[in-house]
Amino acid sequence: MKKNKPGTICVQGGWQPKNGEPRQVPIYQSTTFKYDDSDQMARLFDLKDSGYFYTRLANPTNDAVAMKIAQMEGGVAAMLTSSGQAANFFAVFNICEAGGHIVSANTIYGGTYNLFGVTLPKLGIECTFVNPDATDEEIKAAFRPNTKCVFGETISNPGGNVFDIERFAKIAHSHGVPLIVDNTFATPVNCRPFEWGADIVTHSTTKYMDGHGTAVGGCLVDSGNFDWMAHADKFPGLCTPDESYHGLTYATAFGKMAYITKATAQLMRDLGSIQSPQNAFLLNMGLESLHVRMQRHCENAQRIAEFLHDDPRVGWINFAGLPDNKYYPLAQKYLPHGGCGVIAFGLKGSREEAIRFMDSLKLISIVTHVADAKTCVLHPASHTHRQLSDEQLREAGIAPDLIRLSVGLEDIDDLLADIRQALDAADIKQA
Ligand SMILES: *Cc1c(COP(=O)(O)O)cnc(C)c1O
Repeated sequence: MKKNKPGTICVQGGWQPKNGEPRQVPIYQSTTFKYDDSDQMARLFDLKDSGYFYTRLANPTNDAVAMKIAQMEGGVAAMLTSSGQAANFFAVFNICEAGGHIVSANTIYGGTYNLFGVTLPKLGIECTFVNPDATDEEIKAAFRPNTKCVFGETISNPGGNVFDIERFAKIAHSHGVPLIVDNTFATPVNCRPFEWGADIVTHSTTKYMDGHGTAVGGCLVDSGNFDWMAHADKFPGLCTPDESYHGLTYATAFGKMAYITKATAQLMRDLGSIQSPQNAFLLNMGLESLHVRMQRHCENAQRIAEFLHDDPRVGWINFAGLPDNKYYPLAQKYLPHGGCGVIAFGLKGSREEAIRFMDSLKLISIVTHVADAKTCVLHPASHTHRQLSDEQLREAGIAPDLIRLSVGLEDIDDLLADIRQALDAADIKQA
């Protein structure tokens, strides 16, 4: 399946039914699994055999869907989590504990910014945020001897900035640490960060992967490429015996599967943020059409971005598919078939004009969501990012007047008509 094109993997990856088995991934709605003798069960607990025993650790529905996402990304293993937040927390916490430090792009999702900047420090993990457009020297200056990983988003939410994955992978590797990339907005249909040197990929599957606003979920994918043992002093959790598993050392016992095995056996066991099998089933339904939907999201967004770009009432727009955009060259490199359906822009005038515009939309709805079949808008400064100060907002690349428009799958003529009438109704002075 790995050799197939991404579109084929979207449809058929992961679940490979044997003769007479269900064609569609079945929902294993069971917390537990039965064994014939206690020795078999004991071997599972020792990680000597692989098999299912309790859904907090693993479930066949989840595994099939995680396998599909691993194949789509070109990775060796993946794990579904209850949310994108859980995925990003696990991605970092699996290799970084109290006393550790991470380097992250400052242009990231507000929830992740808060996780890294406020919550991780309470666990003794510090984060240095860097401007991803800074020079190599400036970024390298953020590293410390206790730095454990580098983090960024392929296309940032909500700013729409494109992350230079290859450059950051080189910088991370020159410091002996992996690069973690949140690939939520691009999806593996439009960008596969492992091909550019990223080591670990995360997703909020709540977004395009689900695509219909039905289930919150996340995913953690490992490329299997990072050589943990070559940097054993930095990653004792992977490279020294785990006393909670009879002194087993993940990196030597599981090789390329070490990272995901540890995340499952240790973090999922203790922190319990598993995706429900029912949600994994819904996610799989979304994945089956992801490659077709992404194309339409990108086409519709390109048309709307061009329209907004040329409208005199629009103050500014950030959409990497526009040739005069700052990120156009990076988008040409990393996202040659399109990025995503999310557009960031600001209207001329004050906050009031932005609010009037959004309140005048009829087809397009105001929701705390993005990357959905249904076109929606959000004003991050007053919604998702309201916990950030103006200075933090600016640091995260979010202007107070930024409107995030998530372009869905509706007919483009109807979307353009709705935007046109709302711009008229907003009564924007073009001074
Ligand atoms: C939404 C989002 C998250 C958080 O995911 P949840 O599923 O809402 O927990 C993380 N990263 C990015 C880029 C997102 O868009």
